[in-house]
Amino acid sequence: MHLVDSHCHLDNYEDLPAILANARAAGVHKLLAIGIGDGPATMHHALDLAHAHPEIFATAGIHPQEAHQATPEVLAKLTTLAQDPRCIAIGEIGLDYYHLDNPDIPTQQAAFVAQLKIAEAAGKPITIHCRTSELATPQAKAKYGSADAWEDLLHLIRQYWTPTELPGIMHCFSGNEDQAARSLAAGFYLSFAGNVTYPKSTTIQTVAATAPSDRILIETDAPFLAPIPLRGQTNEPAYVAHTARFVAELRGISPEALAGLTSANFGTLFPTTLSV
Ligand SMILES: [Zn+2]
Repeated sequence: MHLVDSHCHLDNYEDLPAILANARAAGVHKLLAIGIGDGPATMHHALDLAHAHPEIFATAGIHPQEAHQATPEVLAKLTTLAQDPRCIAIGEIGLDYYHLDNPDIPTQQAAFVAQLKIAEAAGKPITIHCRTSELATPQAKAKYGSADAWEDLLHLIRQYWTPTELPGIMHCFSGNEDQAARSLAAGFYLSFAGNVTYPKSTTIQTVAATAPSDRILIETDAPFLAPIPLRGQTNEPAYVAHTARFVAELRGISPEALAGLTSANFGTLFPTTLSV
């Protein structure tokens, strides 16, 4: 098996060499380490890892939860990181109307648009975090009102990203079939995480079963969202093999075939990773 973990957070493992050895043993040959750090001050850590380990590639970006920190200085730092050949995407960026303590909507949208412009200037794809307030607490729902993160996100993408003709990834895709169709139409890949294996995720499972085979990816979002049968444990890149098996079964193909096509899609999206 030849697997790629298209989205993981590697900053905080106590024994990263062991985590990478586990990944290799599970057939995970490439990892995309997300460079949001514990906030913009450490968003370069993933890139440091990418320089230290040939199988790791990195992103850099300001998560919507940190949008209030998107100062001119931080955006300048991101512009510099984006030049690095081992930084293959900008992210995770987007909108999060789920958590009550997130920055307000205008602040989130301004940080998102500023980063779309940095990605465009660097000519690099983006990886998107989008979370609606559908299942949020009543207080969070009251804060974000009738605003819908998916509607706002797709609107901003149409306005600022589609004209660039650059691709992107909907990370941990957790939307509905309509949002999937509109993401695909906008040139995005859908990346499925461990939550696709959870029994209540029937809509995500439908999307994972039916999305075009040349536009799907798999990821762990480690250390979060461990797939069944490891749900509740600390997730790690090796566990993407479980998600691969699950999605393969949904699609009626072998795990090897699913691993092959998602790895090929990653290479199409990020041609510079193919030489590794
Ligand atoms: Zn993430």
